[in-house]
This record gives sequence, C-alpha cells and structure tokens, in this order.
Amino acid sequence: MATIGFIGLGNMGGPMAANLAKAGHQVKVFDLSEAALTAAAEQGCNVMGTAAEAARDSEFVISMLPAGQHVEAVYLNGDTPLFEVISNSALIIDSSTIDAATAKKAAAAAAERGLSFIDAPVSGGVGGAVAGTLAFMVGGSEQEFARAKPVLDCMGKNIFHAGDHGAGQIAKACNNMLLAVLMTGTCEALNMGMKNGLDPAVLSEIMKQSSGGNWALNVYNPVPGVMENVPSSNDYQGGFQVDLMYKDLGLAMGLSQLSESPVPMGSQARALFSLHKSKGNGGMDFSSVLKLYQDQ
Ligand code: NAD
Repeated sequence: MATIGFIGLGNMGGPMAANLAKAGHQVKVFDLSEAALTAAAEQGCNVMGTAAEAARDSEFVISMLPAGQHVEAVYLNGDTPLFEVISNSALIIDSSTIDAATAKKAAAAAAERGLSFIDAPVSGGVGGAVAGTLAFMVGGSEQEFARAKPVLDCMGKNIFHAGDHGAGQIAKACNNMLLAVLMTGTCEALNMGMKNGLDPAVLSEIMKQSSGGNWALNVYNPVPGVMENVPSSNDYQGGFQVDLMYKDLGLAMGLSQLSESPVPMGSQARALFSLHKSKGNGGMDFSSVLKLYQDQ
C-alpha cells in the first residue's frame, strides 16, 4: 500500500480520497475548507496543516482543484510550490480539469526538476466519484501510465491512456463539450414534452430506450423528482457546478480556436450556460440549465 498526498477535497476530491483510504492506502489530505477536512478525517484520511505536509514524502501526489490557476499556484507559484517539496521518486497525478497547455507546462517544469507529472482528468460526476467508477483520461508516458493505473483503479472503473502529456485534458475538453450539448438538448426535449402535457418520468423512460438515449437521461435526469440521488432532486445542490461547466466550455472553445476545429453546437451550449450563469446560477449543478428553458 502506498502513501498518497491528496490536495483538493471538494465534491469530487472528497469521495476520491475516501476510496483510496478504503482501499488501504495511507492518504494525507489538505484543503482550504475546514468542512472538507473534517469530512475526509471521518473517511479515514489523515488531515495535514498544509499542502506541503500532505505532499512531502508521499509516493503519489494527487490534486483535484477547480481550474488551471489553482494547479499552477499549488505546484509552481504558491508560497511553498509543491514541486520544491515532492520527492523525485514520486508520481504527481493532476485530476483537475484544466487547459492542456498548462498541463504540458506543468509536466515540463516537473521534468526539469526530475519529477513526473501527469494529467488525469475524470468523468462520471459525484456519483461516479463516490462509487469508485470514474473514467480517467491520462496524458503521460507509457511508464507513468502503468505506474498510476493501480492507484487510479481504486477510484475508477475505466482508465484510459489518451496519449502524451496534455492528451488527457484534450480528451476531457471534447467529452465535456459533448456533455454540455447532450444536457442542454435533453433539457430542451424534456421541457417541450412537459409543456405539451407529458409526464417527464414517462418521457424520460421512452427516450432512454429510444434513439435519444444518453448519459443525462440514464444517470443525471435534470427534472426534479424523476430520479433519486441526483442534484436535480436536491434543489440542484452538489454535483457539477455551472461555473465549472462554463470553465470547461471555455477550455473547449480555446482548443477549437487553436486547432481551427468548427464547434457550432459547443458554442451554442456555451452561450446557454453563459446566460444561465449570468442569472446568478453559477453555484448550482449544471443540470439546472433546465430552468433557463422554464423561465423563458
Ligand atoms: P469543488 O469546487 O467542489 O472542489 C474544489 C476544492 O479545491 C475545494 O474544496 C477547494 O477548497 C479546494 N481548493 C481550492 N484551492 C485550493 C488550494 N490552493 N489548496 C487546497 N485546496 C484547494 O470542485 P469539484 O466539483 O470537486 O471539481 C474539481 C475538479 O474536477 C474541477 O476541475 C472540475 O472541473 C472537475 N470535475 C468535476 C466533476 C463534478 O461532477 N463535480 C466531474 C468531473 C470533473
């Protein structure tokens, strides 16, 4: 069993760290939020006073932070950049969703110091993080992937090697752009059905078994009360915040710009989430985009 430093215990990082502890690893955790640290301690993790304490002498260091600037601050620019305290033999696994350029920059800066840094963003939502069934998309060398896999297996079901450094983040941007299109499209169809007198549970079941079936209908229905244990049935709390989806769509737009890839559907989805966020809904789960259709 390994000693693992884990930084960032939010909606995703909390249950991911808990699953590592459950698998028997020694998990040293840090987050800026006291509540997150208390919850992690209850799950068998060892709470540290700083990120540096969690990272020092760990064989693996895993981060699950909101965005690229947080990752840069923690590893490269903060008061105690973790790259200065992590031992050379350690493998650093960043599972935050950030831009591929920052992931590549961090990997190169790590290599200059003799360290290994891979990008390993995830998909599967909070439900997947709790159940340990996340999909991981890894960017790094074959050797780094092989080394990370047994640890990632404790938190996920499908572990993919997407390619070299940054490739995991590119896969993630593609996936989340598609997710945004699927979620907005699902809300659009469900709202139209409801406005025409259909029961959303019945319509969802019909579309799930028909050609419109998709992840949002299968495990993340946006209409309150259709499914238990999803954010829509919990006043859109927990889950994946609109702010984070908006960030991810920005990453996808950046990628499309750089590669001159046309993304008309992704652009439209981004416009919808932008409008929804501008109405003060940034902290809600992203399936609350249904409200945008209902409010109009
Ligand atoms: P979150 O906001 O719930 O958690 C982020 C945590 O990071 C917070 O607890 C915060 O206190 C902590 N943090 C921020 N700066 C820190 C620092 N300097 N040191 C220590 N801790 C710090 O976010 P989340 O939903 O857990 O998402 C984390 C990442 O995973 C994001 O990049 C997101 O895009 C991605 N993601 C989220 C989901 C989801 O369903 N929520 C799914 C897939 C990927």
